[in-house]
This record gives sequence, structure tokens and C-alpha cells, in this order.
Amino acid sequence: MAGEFELIARYFDRGPARSALLGIGDDCALIVPPNANATLAVTTDMLVADRHFFSQDPPASVGHKALAVNLSDLAAMGASPAFFTLALALPEADESWVAAFASGLFELADAHGCELIGGDTTRGPLTLSITAMGWLPEGVALRRDAAEFEDDIWVSGELGAAALSVREGLAGHRLPDEHPALGRMLRPQPRVALGLALRHLARAAIDISDGLVADLGHIAQRSRVGADLDWSQIPVSGVLDHEPMKSRQALALAGGDDYELLFTAAPENRLAIEAIGARLGLRLSRVGRIRAGEGVRVLDERGHAIELAREGFDHFA
Ligand code: ADP
Ligand code: MG
Repeated sequence: MAGEFELIARYFDRGPARSALLGIGDDCALIVPPNANATLAVTTDMLVADRHFFSQDPPASVGHKALAVNLSDLAAMGASPAFFTLALALPEADESWVAAFASGLFELADAHGCELIGGDTTRGPLTLSITAMGWLPEGVALRRDAAEFEDDIWVSGELGAAALSVREGLAGHRLPDEHPALGRMLRPQPRVALGLALRHLARAAIDISDGLVADLGHIAQRSRVGADLDWSQIPVSGVLDHEPMKSRQALALAGGDDYELLFTAAPENRLAIEAIGARLGLRLSRVGRIRAGEGVRVLDERGHAIELAREGFDHFA
């Protein structure tokens, strides 16, 4: 069985860093900013077994997801991914698990030119914590506090499929491998290209990890505005077609784990945003409007508020 340093050398150290001055192997990695005004965006997201993923999930998809949720945060700021570190707690040195985990991790990392430059490896309950870093030009970050009165509210992709998988898994009815909703839970696609394209078009942005209504609530609160969503415009995933209306609403509006981008933009940018959707081959839906006041309302076709049992996910609620 491999020791800590063999595991690192075998599965995580891929030789001298290309994008950093110094990568894996010393006490710290060393990063040189590309220019004097470059802004570094830094984010950490942790995945705990049987809380953020199921222990029986394929290890390659756990590797993918551990990085994907971090790249999604970079995307939501409009940052260009550059580096990440990986803190890993493993119950045992299960080499076949680590090898598959690393393959899923590096496949996504390489697709986004994001380099592993350090980390920590220890024994403990299966936990993966990644800190990802990306660059932004000065002053263009898509912040949660930047929404303005009468902005349009947009969302990428389709909502609710990952939450359906989670619901079924928690109930002990794991969806079969070929079910399209399973991949949305196991391998979320971080919307990095969209985040970059929105740099000068969107005002506020956030990625949908907790649920559309809860995450829009974060934008509304930080921006000191209210928000109205139009249920008829929500891009509900087709895998929810057979669900009763109440559960379609719960999964699409409050389910979470979608890792789509939710953003606001001035109405004069509508055509430019639609053009980005067409260029990226990504559905972009205009789902609501920023208003005065506070809080998030979801309105049905008749303009009546839809009540949700809960707005989104909260680990301690
Ligand atoms: P120290 O304890 O002195 O900080 P470690 O022995 O924990 O250093 O790690 C040795 C080197 O390996 C460091 O450069 C560290 O960043 C790197 N490293 C450790 N674990 C990982 C990992 N899971 N992924 C990538 N690099 C790692
Ligand atoms: Mg260490």
C-alpha cells in the first residue's frame, strides 16, 4: 500500500509547474501575477462523503465534481481559472480509488487550463477540499452586490435534474446509470466560458449551488433590492416532466446542485446576451426582473406568488 508521499508523487505531482513559478514539492507554491493590475479570485469548496456526494459515486466523478464546484465559483465572478490546491482526507490509501479520482479531476482541470500547484494529504473521513484561483482584469468582477433596479434576471441551462438525482439517491432509489439526471448530479459542467463572456455585460452573478430562489436571495440581499421571478419562463429540466407541479417547482426553484449561472444585466444588453447563448450553444433564459424592496417572489401566470416549502439548501437549517 502506498504511503502519503508515494500517493502524491504517483497521482498528483505531474512535474514542474507550467503556469506558476513553483508548484508541488515545496512548502508553498509561488505565483507571479501576469501584470501589476491583475486581480486574483480565490474560492474554496469542500466535498464531504455522504453529505455532498454518495460514497458509492464513481471516484472519477467525485474528482470531476470536487473541481467543478470550484470552477463554477470562478465562473460566477467572471474569472479565468489558473491554479488550484487540493486537500484530501482519505480513510485508507485505496490506490484504485485515488487513481480514478485523479483521472476525473485532471480531465476537467486540463479542459480549463487549471493547474494543481499544491495541497495536503491526510488520513480521515473521506473529504476533498479544493481552493481554486483565477485571474480577472481590474474592476470587472461579477459581484453579488452589483444588481440594479430593473435589471433583467437570467439563468443558464436547465434546472432541477441534479436535485432529482439527489432526492432519489437519498430515498434509496438511485437513478440508473443511463438516466440523464444522474450525470447532472455527478458531473456538473462549470459555466466558465459564459462567465468570461459576461464580464462587460452582466452586473451581478452567482452560481446556483443551493437553489435558484435562495441564490437569487443572496444577490437581492447584497444588492439591497428585491427580485421577481416568472415561473412560466424558468427553464425546467425535461427530466421533471412526469413530476407533479409542486415537486417540479420545488426541484427547479429550490433544489440546488445545478451549477448554472444566475446573473442580472441591463435590458439594453438583451441582444448581446442572446448572441452569447447562441455562440456557446447554451440556453440562456430571461426569468425575471430586479425590483425595489427586498426578497424574492416567484409569480405564476396570473401574477400570484408561488409558495415554496423551502427556498434552498442550508446545512444547518
Ligand atoms: P508540508 O506538510 O511540509 O506542508 P506536505 O508533506 O503536506 O508538506 O506536502 C508536500 C508537497 O506536496 C507540498 O508541496 C504540497 O503542496 C504537496 N501536496 C500534498 N498533498 C497534495 C495533494 N493532495 N495534491 C497536490 N499536492 C499535494
Ligand atoms: Mg502539509
